Amino acid sequence: MDKTQEGIGELDPGRNEGLIRSQPERYAELVRDVAGFGIYLIDREGRVQSWNLGAKNITGFEASEVIGQPFSRLFAHAALKETLPQKALGFARANRHCRDEYARIKKNGEEYYALCSLDAVREENGQIAGFVEVFHDITQQKLRENKLYKQATRDVMTGVYNRGHFTELAMQEIERAQRFSEPLSLVLMDIDFFKKVNDTYGHEVGDKTIIALAHTSAEFIRKIDFVGRIGGEEFAITLPRANKEPAFDMAQRLRIKLSELKIKAAEKEFSFTVSMGVAALRPHTKDLQELMRNADAALYKAKREGRNRVETWFE
Ligand code: GH3
Ligand code: MG
Ligand code: MG
Repeated sequence: MDKTQEGIGELDPGRNEGLIRSQPERYAELVRDVAGFGIYLIDREGRVQSWNLGAKNITGFEASEVIGQPFSRLFAHAALKETLPQKALGFARANRHCRDEYARIKKNGEEYYALCSLDAVREENGQIAGFVEVFHDITQQKLRENKLYKQATRDVMTGVYNRGHFTELAMQEIERAQRFSEPLSLVLMDIDFFKKVNDTYGHEVGDKTIIALAHTSAEFIRKIDFVGRIGGEEFAITLPRANKEPAFDMAQRLRIKLSELKIKAAEKEFSFTVSMGVAALRPHTKDLQELMRNADAALYKAKREGRNRVETWFE
């Protein structure tokens, strides 16, 4: 059963098209006291014609405040910018039915998410007589979904992508770059002598250091780049459409920026440095694994040659 219609049973607009067409007031009357779903009629021009208890409960609008008004006023600003109300009516006109989620607005200005099921009502001759919409508030469900998505894709401590999600996105970007013969680079970074930070200032300050590094890096990169935490104090950055030189340049600037950060410990401040390895996609690079191996070899070189430096992988 269509979830939107659950609990509406025999009042389902789909089952009452004849009645809605011939006696819309009668249908509005039948659904007037339904409390769990907003149900209202819309005329051919998109104006609200009726307003039931559920619609009032969800939105806070009284019938007198919306009847005669364009139904687009129920939408939130973001949805209006895309003219979603007109699109929904157009879709329902062409396909009889339109079901979607929209950002909408309550009387008190609060935004909420509505799952909406819009049916076109046709005259005997096939002409559109109007519409009827059934909607309910799915904000809580949306928030739960967003939270779960965040938990599945983000590292809890730093908020940047976790290893799994980073890997997935990086693989997609590599595939794309290979298909369109575009450059792409990968940067690996690891904090220098981090064990000493933990030993000197304690694990909590160590965590704070990792968080500061993650946030600074995430803010520093371009919009199309993304950073992931791939190990304890190891991070990776994917730079789509950047070959070795700009990637190296970015890494150098980020390395300097990170070395200028001041981390507060109990009585004093300290700073830290990172080493980085850069590898660019080559025509014969097979996959992410190979690119990671190359960047890791460059990182190892940076460590070996004294740390606080960026090295590039050479073939
Ligand atoms: P190197 O310059 O060679 O990288 O030296 P290092 O001391 O940084 O060595 P390494 O990278 O191998 O050590 C990483 C250390 O980071 C080991 C581990 O105790 C610590 N670590 C890993 N994850 C966390 C974390 O989430 N919080 C804190 N505070 N420490 C962590
Ligand atoms: Mg490490
Ligand atoms: Mg380290």
